[in-house]
Amino acid sequence: MGRAPSTSGSSLELFDIDLDRAMELIKKSGAKIVGIQVPEGLKRMASEVAKEIVEKTGAEVIVSGDPCYGACDVDLDLCRVADLVIHIGHSEMLEGDPLLDKIVYIEARMKADVKETVEKATDILSARRVGVVTTVQHVHKLDDIVEVLEKSGIEAVVRTGGKRTRYLGQVLGCNYEAARDLDVDEYVFVGTGQFHPLGVALASGKKVVAADPVTGNVSVIDTTPMLKRRYGAIARALDAEKVAVLVSKKPGQKRADLARKMAALGEEHGKEMVLVYLDRVEPEVLINLGVNAAVCTACPRIALDDQAKYPVPILTPPEFEILLGVRRGDYPLDEIE
Ligand code: SF4
Repeated sequence: MGRAPSTSGSSLELFDIDLDRAMELIKKSGAKIVGIQVPEGLKRMASEVAKEIVEKTGAEVIVSGDPCYGACDVDLDLCRVADLVIHIGHSEMLEGDPLLDKIVYIEARMKADVKETVEKATDILSARRVGVVTTVQHVHKLDDIVEVLEKSGIEAVVRTGGKRTRYLGQVLGCNYEAARDLDVDEYVFVGTGQFHPLGVALASGKKVVAADPVTGNVSVIDTTPMLKRRYGAIARALDAEKVAVLVSKKPGQKRADLARKMAALGEEHGKEMVLVYLDRVEPEVLINLGVNAAVCTACPRIALDDQAKYPVPILTPPEFEILLGVRRGDYPLDEIE
């Protein structure tokens, strides 16, 4: 059994991170103040990186202490005080704000070999034509994945994702375009955790085999427990009189128009709706607001993955539409385009 991605010890051991490129860009730009933003799972490497930047470039370094969950979550305040911000671990996503020009995205590529795990996955794949999806941490292994599948007589089908992704076959917790409209009956997801393959299964409605190259585990994704939880949350929110509509301050999670639409829809159906603008969705905010439920237009993972930590049901926008009776049919996964 391999090691899971660690938040302790040196996470650098598990990843290839092209810090030389960061150093070159810092020197070339002449930046005097450099910001660093690192996702939670790699936070412990921030001080190592900071030290290296100071030694190699002489710049002052400021580490973003706020949590960072994705490329959607760039620290614009840090961009205001730094000349350049090194954003580690995610692929570039955002455009539009001139502050974003200060950001250099340095992806973190997992070193873990994928071949053995994908080979194991071929034992439980029954289709001869299979869609391949993964996360940015493994996109550099796409050729290996395709090679193993094809050696087993399985045709691998890969497509580009949407505007939020950069690589063939890449999915995000909020975007499964790379898994949509493929002429396949099954998918193989290569990566860690259950959330992304669950998303692929819900978005495609097809069988998904998850192959985790870090643990070596392969499994067929079962969406039933997640769907039970989600319909349970909708049922618990049915009688809610006062409902918050959460709008994120994070640049890549801000869906203000959608939030306004949800608020108007709720009011039409007799609910008392309150628009709430916030950076992080903390349980206390919902308690202090005295709401009975919330509709979250920020990251879909807040409702789908983190519900247990909140005192009231949190619904995604399409789930709220189900609650109001304006949407029917299969479970609609919330995605950000
Ligand atoms: S919105 Fe959520 S799932 Fe999408 S990139 Fe940001 S943190 Fe990840």
